[in-house]
Amino acid sequence: MKAIVLFGSPGSGKGTQARMLTQCLSIPHVSTGDMLRDRIRHSVELGSCLAAKMHSGALVSDGVVNLMVEERLAQADAANGFVLDGYPRTLAQAEHLGHWLDGRGIREVVIHLAVDYNIIIGRLTGRRECPRCGTLYNLAFHPPKVDELCDLDGAKLAIRDDDRESVIRERLDAYDRQTRPVLDYYRNAGHRVLDVDASNDPPDVVFQKVRLAMRAG
Ligand code: ADP
Repeated sequence: MKAIVLFGSPGSGKGTQARMLTQCLSIPHVSTGDMLRDRIRHSVELGSCLAAKMHSGALVSDGVVNLMVEERLAQADAANGFVLDGYPRTLAQAEHLGHWLDGRGIREVVIHLAVDYNIIIGRLTGRRECPRCGTLYNLAFHPPKVDELCDLDGAKLAIRDDDRESVIRERLDAYDRQTRPVLDYYRNAGHRVLDVDASNDPPDVVFQKVRLAMRAG
């Protein structure tokens, strides 16, 4: 039984690692963000409340999320394990999950994809998009042939609003404020947190590091 709790800041490649883990271990990816968006799509009444909450950037209440996750983890496809993504996000959620797992004699494996924020910022602020045809570039890894102009149609490349440095810093800070107490909770409870450096390597190398850390942990 592999009960994996995956943490990773914006830009850490968490989604890719979650996919690789679920494929490799044949266990489901349980993302509370995806599940909540799914609820919004399928239930008009409940959905409109949830949507307002999520769009305001606030967290959905612990009670709603805990119950939703409990129901999901009790499904047959999660019998051999799961990768939790976006949960727990608060101490109350971490405690709730801990009790649920304790009751089943399972100990969670906590993985933290740690990144150097300066590297992430460099990577994300280097992104450029052609406003005409939508082609994406990165000044560091995939620059246009002529400075700041699209290879395909010559339009001047633009920075998307959510790639601006101040926006990225704010997102990283918000992530830190929210996640740090939960990671500290695990560390203080004597729970090993597998810190994997995900700043610089391609996804398959990060994945090897994750596997090595899991074996050693
Ligand atoms: P992001 O990483 O951009 O916050 P997510 O897809 O993980 O995206 O979550 C989107 C929104 O869903 C959050 O802003 C929050 O409102 C809600 N949400 C997701 N997971 C949780 C959770 N564990 N507890 C409370 N709210 C959550």
